Amino acid sequence: MERVLAIRIHRGTHEVGGTCIELAADGERIVLDAGMPMTPPRRCSDLLPDVPGLWAEGDGSLRGLFISHPHPDHYGLADLVDDDVPIFMGPRAQAVLRESSFFIPWAPAFPPALPLEHRVPVELGPFTVTPWRVDHGAEDCFALLVEAAGSRVLYSGDWRGHGPHPETVEEIVANVGRLDTLLVEGTRIEIGGDDHHISPTEAAVEQACVELIAAARRGVVAFASAQNFDRLDSLQRAAHAAGREFVLDLYAASLWIASGRPRDAIRVFATRPQRRRIYETEAFERTRAVRDLRIFPEEIAERPEELVLCLRTSAVHEIEDTGVLLDADVIWSMWEGYLQGESMASTRQVLRRNGARVSFIHTSGHATATDLEAFVRRVDAREVVPIHTRSPHICAGTFPGARLRTDGEWWDVAREPEGHACTA
Ligand SMILES: [Zn+2]
Repeated sequence: MERVLAIRIHRGTHEVGGTCIELAADGERIVLDAGMPMTPPRRCSDLLPDVPGLWAEGDGSLRGLFISHPHPDHYGLADLVDDDVPIFMGPRAQAVLRESSFFIPWAPAFPPALPLEHRVPVELGPFTVTPWRVDHGAEDCFALLVEAAGSRVLYSGDWRGHGPHPETVEEIVANVGRLDTLLVEGTRIEIGGDDHHISPTEAAVEQACVELIAAARRGVVAFASAQNFDRLDSLQRAAHAAGREFVLDLYAASLWIASGRPRDAIRVFATRPQRRRIYETEAFERTRAVRDLRIFPEEIAERPEELVLCLRTSAVHEIEDTGVLLDADVIWSMWEGYLQGESMASTRQVLRRNGARVSFIHTSGHATATDLEAFVRRVDAREVVPIHTRSPHICAGTFPGARLRTDGEWWDVAREPEGHACTA
């Protein structure tokens, strides 16, 4: 009987988030990503993709779950996975999620997992899975190359070409070899094209922060995701370039240290809810571990012009009392629409009454349409299947060799015709 590698995308052929891909060969299976959908399905029973043996004890044919990167839309259902299914994820990503779960106890915990390392193949039954590092702002983000039954499939994961590591794209293009199928993210392929969505590079974001902080006369407060490490790196370097100390709240500082970043590059401010969490759980070792780095409201009040504070937005009321927000420069380094939303009304009010000037300095974690198209053209793939996109039909018109699939549809990977077998 001819051996084939079969694929089905459970979620992602026409939406962003909730990614889940199942691959089968020789009677065995693996899964790439078990993500939480961005919008909950109408029926709760539709939340878990229909993968036998993933959520309850199966027949043993499901060999493992591979998580491409530590964002909830890719790992958010992993805590529901049956104990018998091994999970694989980058070790620094695991460390960051473990830290995160202390401060966000209601978020899904990430179960213990086996490590993934750049270009170190994992062999499971008929499958060889090789992670290739990609640039997506978080720790341990990978594209996953699956080889089985003589076929080669690359799942791009989420990535960008305008981050600090464009060499990751070059490395894949130059070395991944001939592919039968490329599953490529198309998050930013949208109606209207890329003209409206040109991204500054992460380097340009850093430069804008350097200039803003250098010109600032009083306090500088930045708001950024604690798991967007590329951004925290940019802000930290910009703060130090201006001779200011870089202050993270205890949550972001714990993640920073867990990621292996230098602890002496930061100071630590424990916000009221974070201190409450420490008291409630008697986890005093957490504050002891950063005792030499702590900064208290009195010091913030005394020398705001020597600091850059990077905090949760929920901390604005607390730090308002120190005066650091008075006539301050605020760097909003997240999606701009988030600040305009209803949930940020009181944050906006506090910033306004302190006369703080808000600058939007941000760039996306996803590749531009231009970079996506160039990547697809340069990678040698016989078939290209868009995933993680709201606009599959626009992807089909943009990506050469694109073939649209529907959620839940199994298909066999078509191989190179006889006599042209791939040797890459
Ligand atoms: Zn995603």
